[in-house]
Amino acid sequence: MPIKSRIRTIPHYPRPGIMFRDITTLLKDAEGFRLTINSLAERYREAPIDLVVGIEARGFILGSALAFALGKGFVPIRKKGKLPGRTLTAQYSLEYGVDSIEIHVDAIAAGQPVLLVDDLIATGGTALGAASLIERSGGMIHECCFIVDLPGLGGSARLQDHGLACFALTSFESE
Ligand code: AMP
Repeated sequence: MPIKSRIRTIPHYPRPGIMFRDITTLLKDAEGFRLTINSLAERYREAPIDLVVGIEARGFILGSALAFALGKGFVPIRKKGKLPGRTLTAQYSLEYGVDSIEIHVDAIAAGQPVLLVDDLIATGGTALGAASLIERSGGMIHECCFIVDLPGLGGSARLQDHGLACFALTSFESE
């Protein structure tokens, strides 16, 4: 498990009871980072996507490296108030709070196929919020991809219930 074994778990961060899956230990390892991006690039090399869309902040690290590897453009979905142009906003709930994310209204053209990227899917609130922004922009989501799925929190099932394909390189049950 060359990817999973490089992810560090920090118990009780940022709140008691949360098992935080820390990918900084994977990213600082050159082989781990390369394996992560190469595994995703291999999956999407022939996929009909125009853009990679990454969610702030860890989705930027993966999404930009993946977009570069695939020879595609990169679009950021940012926390509220950070993008300078006209934006669309979505509110979403996460495993430990509520937040708002935004995308530039003109970032995705109508009908453009995109790949949505984040580091981890837990309850799916963040990814569903991001997916709603892409859909309101007129974009078509080819797939939502992650390094880590926490299936016990139901996010990947929620995405699939919404008709969104979901892929993760590894998963943590409740350990
Ligand atoms: P969710 O919206 O519940 O699917 O949460 C996903 C977002 O929150 C991702 O952007 C993750 O970076 C972060 N996140 C949620 N839970 C965890 C966790 N247990 N470990 C690390 N990151 C998490």
